[in-house]
Amino acid sequence: MEILFGNSMTVAITRVLAAFVGFILLLLGVGMLIFPELLASALFAVSARAVGTSALRSDFGALFLGMGGFCLVGVFSRFRWLLLVPSVFLLLVIVGRVISALVDKFSAWPIEILAAELLFLVVLLLAVLSYSRSSKDRTRPPELGILFSRGFLVPVAIVVVMVAGALNMRPAIGTALFNTFVDNLMARSDIDDLSDGLHIILAGTGSPMPDPARTGVSTVVIAGDHQFVVDSGPGSTLNLEIMKVPLEETDAVLLTHMHSDHIAGLGELLLKAWTTGARTEPLRIMGPQGVQAVVDGFNQAFSLDAGFRHAHHGDAVAPTSGAGGQAETIQDFDEDKGTVVFETADLTVTAFLVDHRPVEPSLAFRFDYRGRSAVISGDTIPTDTMRHHAEGVDLLVHEAMQPKMLSAIKRASTKTGQAVVGHVVTDIQSYHTFPEQAARIANDADVGHLVLYHIIPPLPFSILEPAFLGDSRKIFSGPITVAQDGMLFSLLPDTDDIDKAWLLR
Ligand SMILES: [Zn+2]
Ligand SMILES: [Zn+2]
Repeated sequence: MEILFGNSMTVAITRVLAAFVGFILLLLGVGMLIFPELLASALFAVSARAVGTSALRSDFGALFLGMGGFCLVGVFSRFRWLLLVPSVFLLLVIVGRVISALVDKFSAWPIEILAAELLFLVVLLLAVLSYSRSSKDRTRPPELGILFSRGFLVPVAIVVVMVAGALNMRPAIGTALFNTFVDNLMARSDIDDLSDGLHIILAGTGSPMPDPARTGVSTVVIAGDHQFVVDSGPGSTLNLEIMKVPLEETDAVLLTHMHSDHIAGLGELLLKAWTTGARTEPLRIMGPQGVQAVVDGFNQAFSLDAGFRHAHHGDAVAPTSGAGGQAETIQDFDEDKGTVVFETADLTVTAFLVDHRPVEPSLAFRFDYRGRSAVISGDTIPTDTMRHHAEGVDLLVHEAMQPKMLSAIKRASTKTGQAVVGHVVTDIQSYHTFPEQAARIANDADVGHLVLYHIIPPLPFSILEPAFLGDSRKIFSGPITVAQDGMLFSLLPDTDDIDKAWLLR
């Protein structure tokens, strides 16, 4: 033992290996800071949304950087025993991983990762051991023996018993927690706490291309006592419910055009708006030519369900008169003024024509409330009508598609023999707006803040956003946000500020 771990060759080899471990941990830490979601999905096989980008950058970044830092300081200084610090963390990481594999039903045994962590741990412990046994060592910390003392082992044993006990008592703990917090869970809504102003909630910011971070297009606009849902893309109603948007209080749904990614959630939205507040009148659905056919179709498709809901719950939940939607066609467009579709003393909602041919007509909406304003573009190429109607708005929510990324998809589709995908990514380039073009409009119209939504192609990782934006930031010097589901922008009267918050959690 003394010979094996005490000679200088072993000290040198374990030192090099420990340095290698330190560098890898450091790289992981830097990676967590720079592209957290990408690394998390590679390492933990979970979606970034499940963990939270902030937690990934901060907690995991700190863990890896800290472990790597202690490794390298331990290796390159006389204080080799500092390697015990990352060793303890690695041990805890391994314990957590084993518990997860035993407890979390869908978590497979991560053999490769577990093996790497065990290997790292062994390398670090060998490096400490060989150094501390080396005859040249003058800095061997006598405290090492603490690991085997009663003062250390007893607290460790207590923690182990507590963790094992808590794991065993999970049903009782879960029940107690649910009963304790159910009132809060039912009552709490960030929306209730919003002060008077113009609030834009991005409920769905994706496109027809599947994006794990974005559902189909939908935007909620709350202006004082009034509430509108602009478009109802697939999956977006679920987000609205999770964010506790009071659907039953919706004044009207405003449809920009009749593409599936803007209307496919409508059936669910109508049902939930009806039954969450026992509405006695159908929901107003305003949109361009074609809205009548779409609403008739959804009403027809959900008519059986509406009958069943009423038969089961009665008028207290599902009064027959409130089922479904009532279509209203927006027409008679004044090129200069647009068409006012909703007006009170404080609020004006204006529809104006954009260009999404062959989808005709296609609309955008502008909201003006107590001196604050926002435009939601729907789908369009860059248009003069957008420049005109977005003039001076505080917030421009504009669709965006990055053609360079689509070219990469086109190349990949050719390589993998997916001709239809290649066709689609070529075709769609003729009726959307590039990020740089949206930035040009924002610059020309002198808007306060540009939000890019209806993101094409999907951007599951935030590291892709600068590539998506291209030269946009050179063209528009104001703030630009690449939209994600759950973002809230609040424009309060009598200020120029735009407050931001996150509603999906
Ligand atoms: Zn469209
Ligand atoms: Zn679309």
